[in-house]
Amino acid sequence: MTRPVSLALMAQSIASHLRLLTDQGILGFDCSPETLEILARGLAHNSLSTHGPLAQAQTEASSCTECALHKNREVGVFAQGDSKAEVMFVGLAPGREEARVGLPFQGEVGELLDNIIKAMGLNRESVYMCNLVKCPVADGQAPDPTCIRACSRFFKKQVEEVRPRIICALGQTVAESILKQELPFSRARGKFQPYLGMRVMPTHHPVELLVSPEKKRAVWQDMQAIMRVLDLQGSS
Ligand code: SF4
Repeated sequence: MTRPVSLALMAQSIASHLRLLTDQGILGFDCSPETLEILARGLAHNSLSTHGPLAQAQTEASSCTECALHKNREVGVFAQGDSKAEVMFVGLAPGREEARVGLPFQGEVGELLDNIIKAMGLNRESVYMCNLVKCPVADGQAPDPTCIRACSRFFKKQVEEVRPRIICALGQTVAESILKQELPFSRARGKFQPYLGMRVMPTHHPVELLVSPEKKRAVWQDMQAIMRVLDLQGSS
C-alpha cells in the first residue's frame, strides 16, 4: 500500500534539496536565501503541517518557552523523515546550520550522516531524524542538562508516535539521556540496550568522526549491527 506523503515532509524535502542545489552552485532554480528562509519559517510555524500528535507536538515546541534556549529560536528544528521509520537517529541539539533551514543534521556533519545512512541502503526520507533538544544552541556548545530534561516531553512524544525498532543514539550524552544511566561509553558503544520494547544503539556522533576519523570503523560496525536486525543489504 502506498503511504501518503504529508505536506510537511514534502516541504522538508524541498528545503533540503534547494539547500543542496544552493551549496552546489547550481543555477536555474530559485535557491535564494529568501526562499529557503520562507520554507524554513513555514515549517517552524507549522503552516504546512499535517494533522496528528507529532504535528501538534511540533506546534507546541515552536512556541515553547520552558527553557532558556527559546531565546535562540528563530526557527526550531523538530525532525525530518518518515514518522513510521524502523530506525531513528537522535542527536543532541541543533546548531546554526540546522536552525537556518529548520532541519536536523546539516552542513558537514549532515553530509557525513547522510553518507552513512546511504551506505546502509536508506536515506533521509526513509529514516526519522531528530535531536533531544528542539531549539538551537551556539555552535560547539552543549545544551544545559535542565534544557535536555525540559525538552524530553517532545522527544518522548516522537518515540511514542514513531515507535522505531531501533533508536541510534549519537554520542554519549544522547545515549545516557535516553537510557537514564551513566554509561562507560567505550564499553556501551556498539551494544544494543533495551528501551521500552525497542532497542537503543549507542554510537559516536558524526561530529566526533570529523575530529577523529579513526572512529568511522567502529561506527560502521554499529551500523552493520543495525542492518542485520533490519535485514538491510546496504548500498554497495
Ligand atoms: S529547547 Fe525544548 S524545552 Fe527548551 S524552549 Fe525549546 S522546545 Fe522548549
